[in-house]
Parts: sequence; C-alpha cells; structure tokens
Amino acid sequence: MAKSLHHFINGARVEGASGRFGDVFNPATGEVASRVPLASTAEVGQAVAAAAAAFPAWAATPPLRRARVLFNFKALVEANLDEFAALVTAEHGKVLSDAKGSCQRGLEVVEFACGIPQLLKGEFTENVGTAVDSWSVRQPLGVVAGITPFNFPAMVPMWMFPIALACGNSFILKPSERDPSAGLFMAEMLKQAGLPDGVFNVVNGDKEAVDALLHHPDVAAVSFVGSTPIAEYIYHTAAAQNKRVQALGGAKNHMVVMPDADLDQATDALMGAAYGSAGERCMAVSVAVAVGGVGDALIERLEPRVRALKVGPGADPEAEMGPLVTKQHLEKVRGYVDLGVEEGAKLVVDGRGLKLQGYENGYFLGGCLFDQVTPEMRIYKEEIFGPVLSVVRAPDYDSAVRLVNEHEFGNGAAIFTRDGDAARDFSAKIDIGMVGVNVPIPVPMAFHSFGGWKRSLFGDHHMHGPEGVRFYTKLKTITSRWPTGIRAGAEFVMPTMR
Ligand code: NAD
Repeated sequence: MAKSLHHFINGARVEGASGRFGDVFNPATGEVASRVPLASTAEVGQAVAAAAAAFPAWAATPPLRRARVLFNFKALVEANLDEFAALVTAEHGKVLSDAKGSCQRGLEVVEFACGIPQLLKGEFTENVGTAVDSWSVRQPLGVVAGITPFNFPAMVPMWMFPIALACGNSFILKPSERDPSAGLFMAEMLKQAGLPDGVFNVVNGDKEAVDALLHHPDVAAVSFVGSTPIAEYIYHTAAAQNKRVQALGGAKNHMVVMPDADLDQATDALMGAAYGSAGERCMAVSVAVAVGGVGDALIERLEPRVRALKVGPGADPEAEMGPLVTKQHLEKVRGYVDLGVEEGAKLVVDGRGLKLQGYENGYFLGGCLFDQVTPEMRIYKEEIFGPVLSVVRAPDYDSAVRLVNEHEFGNGAAIFTRDGDAARDFSAKIDIGMVGVNVPIPVPMAFHSFGGWKRSLFGDHHMHGPEGVRFYTKLKTITSRWPTGIRAGAEFVMPTMR
C-alpha cells in the first residue's frame, strides 16, 4: 500500500486524524505514490492554536535573529537541493532542471527576507512639534495562512512564508493536495534551521481545511495562489471575516510579435514559454499575437519545433517537457484541444496521439499548436493550463493591444519588437501586472513584487518584495513627548504644531 503522509504541527509530524485521504500520483507512471491526509476543521484548529501560542515570542525575537534562521534555512535547502527538486518532479511531473530552477527562484525570496532588519527600519521625525518626536514602525499581524497551487509546490509557498516569518508572523501552509511533499520538506528544513516550534506549520487538506482557515478568528491574513474562481471565493470569504487577503488567480498570457521582431528569437521564446513545465505555469505564454503579416512565418518556424519537442518523464535529463499533473487535468486539457477543433481553429500540431513506451499510463500530452484562433473561441478566452499554444492574427499594433486589454485576465504579457517606441507605448498602455519587452516570461525578481491585474489578482498587494513586507505587517505610528518638554496644560482644541 502507498505510504501515508502527515501534517507538520508545532514542530512535529502529526498523523492525519480525520480518516480522509487523497491520492498523490506519480504523473509519469499514473501510479499512486502516497496518500495525503485531508485535515478536518479540528486539526486546522490545532495548527492555529500552535501558531498562535508561538507568535508572541517569535514576534519579540529581534529581526536580525529571525533573519539568521532564514540564512540557516537557505544553506540547508541549498545543501539538499537535489532531493528537494526530485520531490517536486516526482509529484508534479516537471523536468528536474525546471524543478531546480523553481526552487532557486523561491530561495531568492529567502535571500530578500534575510535583509529584514533593513526592511523594517521604519521612519522617524524629530520635532514634529517642539520636543515632540514621531515614528512609524511595521509590526507583524499574528497567525497568517498560505494556500498554494499544484504547479509550484516549492516556489509559491516561498513567495509567502520567508517574508511572513521574517516580519515576525507565525505561518500555516495549506499546500496543494496534488503535491504536498515539498511543503513538508520545507517544514523539516525550517526546524533544523532553528525556527521555534509552532512558528511554521503545514496542514494538508482540501476545501474543508481551507474553509477552516478562512473562518478561524485567530487567522489574521490569507495569501492564496490558484485558479480564478477559487481566488475570488477566498477573497470574498476571508475579507468578510475581516482578514487581510491577497488572492492570485489564473492567467492567459499573450506575447505580441511585431512585424519587425527577430522571428527566430521570438520562436525560441515561445517554445520555452508555452511548453516549459507542460504549460502549467501561471506566466506561461498561451497566446501568440502575430501582428501584420508575421503569422505565416511564425507558424512555419513553430510547427517543426513543436513536433520535435522531447516529451518524457521529468527525471529523464533529455526530456524538455514532462507529463501533466493528474489524469483529470490531462482530460481537461485534451478536452480543450477537441473543443478548439470544433470551434474551427486550425490544429497545426496535434499532440493528442502521443504514446511513450514504458509510460503508457502516464499523463502525457504532446505539444499542441493552434492557428487562426479568434477572440470569441473558448480556447482563447479560458485558461487551458497545458502545452497548447494559440496563434491569433492581429492586423496592426493597436488591435493587438486592444486584444490583450480586453481579455479578462491580466497576469503577464510580452512584446517582441526592435522598435523602442512600440515597446515603450506597450509598457505604458497595457492593462497587465507584469510586462516583458523581448522577455517572454517577465516574472519579477524577489526584490520586486509579483502580481497580475484584472481577474488575475483579488486584493491590494502583490506578492513578495516590498509588497510582501507591507502585506505581512501593519503600520503603527507613535507620537512621543517626555514630561520635561514644554508643558501645555489641558488642551481642548485639535493639537497643531508649535
Ligand atoms: P486550484 O485553485 O484548484 O487550487 C489552489 C488551492 O486551492 C489548493 O491548495 C486547493 O486545495 C485549494 N482549493 C481548490 N478548490 C477549492 C475550493 N473549492 N475551496 C477552497 N479551496 C480550494 O488551483 P491549482 O489547479 O492547484 O493551480 C493552478 C491554477 O493556479 C491555475 O489557474 C494557475 O494560473 C494558477 N496560478 C496562479 C499563479 C499566479 O501567480 N497568479 C501562480 C501559480 C498558479
């Protein structure tokens, strides 16, 4: 029988007590690799209680000492990076080099969070009035929760907890039930790094665990990354409980290819951005907008490359693209390819027939390429989240911009051009949170912040970087006068500066 995983509460592994489990698959073989316990409301309550008990001492720990725990964590994860990346590949399916890259991008947030003494310095004004000083500090919120998606089981939690912990909060991670092992691994590393028990907890589960977090009065804030319908639900539900919320949702990222672009460079960019991680990235390019007459030349270059994609199990060093995460997801993505054909798009490369010897039960789909996709089609409007690229033709630059701006999602967009004016205009006018100029996947570095616009993000704060520090702290302003200062006597009017 497949091994059972656990929760991680108050510094220890805790067996599931609800009697409910979910299967975790090896996507390359279709075998059940482990069973993940699905927490009950009561188990979530235990984790919140542990986090609440650990909070006061952690919040009072000097930021420099909190940063040192994160320095230790970084060194430990780096020393065990191969094991960490292998866990991601085993449950998610993405190729090892990509898994390692995603862990590295997560560690960059840890590096940023290690600078927390500098980031929390606050502001001070001497003499806001005669002998009156005023200063502002940012203090932690309390117990905060992170609910994360399947596609980045290491990196997305690391967008959240390094900064939350550095700011002095205690944290509860509810990882995706598809690939929970990376979260448990990070919990062990944090403990070894010297994090006090209860400051970081992992509760595995599904909707029941999520709802328990959203309704628990001791959870002060919720960070969420996942699909748009769930992000919207999280935002409304948690905000109605007076919690601070940031909820990042789905995407349909366009790459606009201008007539003056270097088409070979644009083709390389599209291959990596559309088919890397089997398209299961919120910043994947799923629509190429061919402007003016470049459509035919672009398809001519893309077609042989998509046919030649090396698809295989993620652990195979030769593979460029692994399987999809689950059978249901494979069926959903295949369903979209069927739909695109029904809707009248031209399926230039059909990956549906792919069979891999020895991996017949794996969730593999070959790269798919559609041409002549139009804005009314569902394959254009909806997020597919698989290795399917749609090419849309736009007569000119203005219609390309209109297309991007009218789409419901606003996560990322890129323009490929040699024209500085077009690039500058695009950066200024596009209704998108993260923009690339000749960069197909413009994921901001850890010291900037990550987030989309429109229905790709609900809430006010982007994630990590300076926005992360703002999200995980509340501002306090102190105005202070010592008794030896000027004595004003009783004052009954609004104080003004003297
Ligand atoms: P998902 O929305 O199905 O699940 C995300 C989390 O929500 C999981 O932890 C899951 O257990 C929980 N959840 C699922 N259904 C729920 C429900 N009914 N009630 C409460 N909680 C529920 O997303 P996914 O399939 O794991 O991840 C893929 C999606 O995430 C894609 O849409 C992708 O674009 C998006 N994503 C967005 C970003 C971003 O930065 N905007 C980054 C990564 C992934």
